[in-house]
Amino acid sequence: MNLILFGPPAAGKGTQAKRLVDERGMVQLSTGDMLRAAIASGSPLGERVKGIMERGELVSDAIVIALIEERLPETEAAGGAIFDGFPRTVAQAEALDSMLAGRNAKIDVVIRLRVNEHELLERISRRFAEQGRADDNPDAYAVRLKAYNDQTAPLLPYYAAQDKLVEVDGMGTVEAVAAEIDHALGPPPVAAAVG
Ligand code: AMP
Repeated sequence: MNLILFGPPAAGKGTQAKRLVDERGMVQLSTGDMLRAAIASGSPLGERVKGIMERGELVSDAIVIALIEERLPETEAAGGAIFDGFPRTVAQAEALDSMLAGRNAKIDVVIRLRVNEHELLERISRRFAEQGRADDNPDAYAVRLKAYNDQTAPLLPYYAAQDKLVEVDGMGTVEAVAAEIDHALGPPPVAAAVG
């Protein structure tokens, strides 16, 4: 199964993706994590995206599409991928559909975590205080939220038209959100259950 965890930054996508990895043995593909790793390693790609990410802007479609394409083969062996923070534009979504189609695969479900703006701002200021991530500062976060509203939210009708969109209330505890996601996904395949 291939699923997309969808929602604005700080909606809880990363937290839920990691849990699904632990419980279902799927592979998490987070373009944000891949880009942060590139920056940490000091690679040319990292140098190229560092300023863009610090400002809270989106990096180019070509860069993130290439990062995802490179990682798709390993997700097949694991029985599926959790896309976290990708796709973020309609062009990325179309590229993902065609990359998967080329491998006889598809997106099965898109889980949208709904969190209101007040709660997002509280979470982000807490995370900034605890982790000090540069793009969690209030100015960069405002840019990220605008990018979500302008460029990423238009994906909702794209996936709704394909009948793949499942809405989950992301305002509850991590456990409550997890329970709603599990309900939407159904039980894990027995062979994939780990731990
Ligand atoms: P995230 O950890 O998913 O919030 O991503 C952190 C930052 O990485 C974003 O604010 C963007 O600058 C960049 N980024 C991550 N994923 C994408 C993507 N799919 N498209 C464009 N930029 C991305």
